[in-house]
Amino acid sequence: MEGLGLIPAARPLGLFVHTFGCQMNEYDSLRVQRLLAQDGYTLSPDPSEADVIFINTCSVREKAEQKVFSLLGRLRRFKQRKPSLVIVVGGCVAQQLGSALLERFPYVDLVVGTRALGSLPHLLQTVRRGGSRIAHLPEHDEEGWRELFGQTDAWRTDVVAPVTVMQGCDNFCTYCIVPYVRGRERSRPSREILREIQLLVEKGAREVLLLGQNVNSYGRGLDEKLCFADLLRLIAAETDVARIRFTTSHPKDLTEDLIQCFADIPQLCPHIHLPFQAGSDRVLEKMNRRYTAMEYRRKAELLRSACPEIGISADVMVGFPGETEEDFQATLDLIRAVRFDTLFSFRYSDRPYAAARLFPDKVSEADKARRLTELQGLQASITLEKNREEVGRVRPVLVESESKAGDGQMTGRTPQNRIVNFPGSSALKGRIVSVTITEAYAHSLKGRLSVGE
Ligand code: SAM
Ligand code: SF4
Repeated sequence: MEGLGLIPAARPLGLFVHTFGCQMNEYDSLRVQRLLAQDGYTLSPDPSEADVIFINTCSVREKAEQKVFSLLGRLRRFKQRKPSLVIVVGGCVAQQLGSALLERFPYVDLVVGTRALGSLPHLLQTVRRGGSRIAHLPEHDEEGWRELFGQTDAWRTDVVAPVTVMQGCDNFCTYCIVPYVRGRERSRPSREILREIQLLVEKGAREVLLLGQNVNSYGRGLDEKLCFADLLRLIAAETDVARIRFTTSHPKDLTEDLIQCFADIPQLCPHIHLPFQAGSDRVLEKMNRRYTAMEYRRKAELLRSACPEIGISADVMVGFPGETEEDFQATLDLIRAVRFDTLFSFRYSDRPYAAARLFPDKVSEADKARRLTELQGLQASITLEKNREEVGRVRPVLVESESKAGDGQMTGRTPQNRIVNFPGSSALKGRIVSVTITEAYAHSLKGRLSVGE
């Protein structure tokens, strides 16, 4: 790729972006938009008007991958109507399938691996000039990594800004494809993170969401000696950001030092996403999670004694190979004991490379569906009860945007991460206002601005 040089675009080129999956993919897509904006691309909301369509993909569950294939199938007609259109597939499915994607979808032009997004401007130039089709999946892409994460210009800023602090994962949970498609753990130096956050704040961000597959192992492999708790303290001391959140934490790596941060750092929101995956020790062991249900419960108690108001959310799955009714009941017991504020619950699906695909005693789809329904019913009642406890309280709400429902409502979040809608003007966007909670629903709260706001 070296020495190609970039050809200046004669007219602005339209870029349509569609992102599947997690917040890390959202962040990568933002970075890609920023990179391509430097090359003359402007965002096009309509794929039929775009010169380049970029699909950022997710393969964490089978269903996610199927959604990608279905969308790619629908793109054929866009290419038929406009042969000069360039279709690019990035993200985890791209990394997983590589050139097989070019074979399966002959109108896809470029497949870019998870470690190659920084090379996208050069790759696009090559494809557009030569008409060749490329699958680029380097093991390491030093130049690309610097392009993507070494630059700290706050290109587009919302009230809540995501900031990647680490990439990849070394944990190898037996159900998970992430270590295979995202590669080994790699942390960003603290000075780059601090610079990026301060720039985002200067452009209007009030909250940062620090991202990583397991932020608790932040710092491993860096020249500087610091852990994730140190990074939080640095951000609080050296930037003007009003709120800090992070996701995701692995329970085995959640240290007392980090738990103490919830008591000590005023900017750190009292909210943690701490996936537990299962409540049976037998299943947890087969998942290679390296903690027991009791250890998980103990960490939740420690979090609540350091910070009584903390909101706890988690991921859980049903139907891991060999999961019995008794194992499933242990999962429900853990949910009843911890009383999560919210849960993201999934049916287990086999994933390529992940060890559990070869495990015996697969659970039938019917049993998975029944267990998921029961689990979600239990959690829905806990979430609603907890939301009802909020009624009458006054909460500081960071106003993010106009509510999707329209009708003059604004929307924001409490420190515990509950969504609150309330009547208010769009001039409040970016402010932290006191809201009295008046009604509770399954997924959100309603409120009114407190007197004096
Ligand atoms: N690194 C994070 C963690 O450890 O929690 C997130 C990993 S993954 C992107 C998000 C969630 O997807 C996981 O927490 C897990 O519940 C779920 N998941 C991962 N692999 C799965 C599989 N094979 N089948 C069903 N759910 C899966
Ligand atoms: Fe996957 Fe486990 Fe790594 Fe999370 S910690 S990304 S679930 S391997």
